[in-house]
Amino acid sequence: MRDIKFALPPAVQKILSTLHTAGFDGYIVGGAVRDVLLDKPVKDWDFTTNATPEQIQKLFPDSFYDNQFGTVGIAGKHLNDKENPEAVYEITTYRSEGLYTDHRRPDSVTWGKTVEEDLQRRDFTINAMALGENKIIDPYHGQDDIKNHVIRAVGDPSMRFQEDALRMMRAVRIGAQLGFAVEQLTIAAITQNAHLLEHISWERIRDEFLKILVSDYPEEGIQLLASTNLLKHILPELLECRGVQQAHHHIYDVWTHTLKAVNTCPSKDPIVRLAVLLHDIAKPLTADTSSGTVTFYNHEVLGARVARKVAERFRLSKKDIQRVFMLVRWHMFVYDPKVTDAYIRRFIRRVGVEYISDMIALRVADRVGSGATATSWRLEEMQKRIEGQLQKTFSMNDMAIDGNDLMKEFGLRPGPEVGKLLKMLFKDVVEHPEHNTKEYLMEKAKKLL
Ligand code: ATP
Ligand code: MG
Repeated sequence: MRDIKFALPPAVQKILSTLHTAGFDGYIVGGAVRDVLLDKPVKDWDFTTNATPEQIQKLFPDSFYDNQFGTVGIAGKHLNDKENPEAVYEITTYRSEGLYTDHRRPDSVTWGKTVEEDLQRRDFTINAMALGENKIIDPYHGQDDIKNHVIRAVGDPSMRFQEDALRMMRAVRIGAQLGFAVEQLTIAAITQNAHLLEHISWERIRDEFLKILVSDYPEEGIQLLASTNLLKHILPELLECRGVQQAHHHIYDVWTHTLKAVNTCPSKDPIVRLAVLLHDIAKPLTADTSSGTVTFYNHEVLGARVARKVAERFRLSKKDIQRVFMLVRWHMFVYDPKVTDAYIRRFIRRVGVEYISDMIALRVADRVGSGATATSWRLEEMQKRIEGQLQKTFSMNDMAIDGNDLMKEFGLRPGPEVGKLLKMLFKDVVEHPEHNTKEYLMEKAKKLL
């Protein structure tokens, strides 16, 4: 066993020592142990114990019990966690899971007797460790896999993916986040069971997929989704881009270009990254070689429609569906110093003020993904002119809210106070055009009042 000298936050130590003092087992478990060992910040601290939920609640009077999962939660503020008052610490009694017949959740969950039993039901070796006050329980050699940067299923990988098909997405996603390789037998089992993804809801598939897009290694993640046949189920349209050659300055086929673009996208917004992934999605459908060189006329028009279909399949919100559509639809914008201010204003109106920076991020990704530099004098000049127009065209009438909105929301009477508030908000919007949304301005007004 390796020497443990972890500096655990005081709130975490407090939970462990409270359980131990009362005579119970107590361990940090799952992703939190993995992240501690990797020296990464821990988002949620999960604990496991042999104490029952009732016994846990007695030890932590301010806790709350979530009956559905048998989990007792404690808010950071009750643990004097000054650094992290918003954090939630969750303690779950050892669990042991019964059969899985629907490929997504166990038919029954019972209390387990040992920590080993609890670790056995977990997905990957690096997620199946428990860390106590002075020992680590690591039956599947997760520490070795952390050292070697490997994602490996606990137990028989094929059986584990048949139990819960979402684990296949989790393997790829955690690999892409950590820059770990998925181990060969685990990959083989994913490939063999990829079709079982059809039992998983699109919401859950989407959440994992978007996490891959915003991870540090999206290109590798999507390549792995493709080579294991998972992508065939999620986004078959993208596979059509493989081998579609491009002319002129392009050094990559559409598939490779697309993955490189996602990889270099300066925005970490999942919707922007999805739009980057889909921006050339209709190139395979519009490729025309009759002139001798390949062209893709109107691929952005058809592509926007395909993108909308994908966004709907992913059950995105109406607003995000529209955003993906718009980013793909107008991504072919061009700039010439001779264009008029009206042209710039039309561009702003089409894209929407709040999404201009997303569109620029998409363009930077598109450029770098083609092997070009991030920007050019043209792009920079266009950005300057957009900024110029935004400052000029903005009058108070262009704001997303008006005096009536403020009076209604905050019960104000007509008078100088409303005017003063509007002026302060206007100043903010002129400087940050992306702040011109009703939600933002109302929130800001609340703070100013
Ligand atoms: P992150 O929170 O960074 O996304 P995580 O590994 O903590 O990663 P959670 O979804 O928070 O993931 O799950 C916590 C732990 O629960 C995991 O580390 C793993 O041990 C276990 N777990 C989660 N989902 C599954 C699953 N589908 N099958 C088996 N074990 C799972
Ligand atoms: Mg977690």
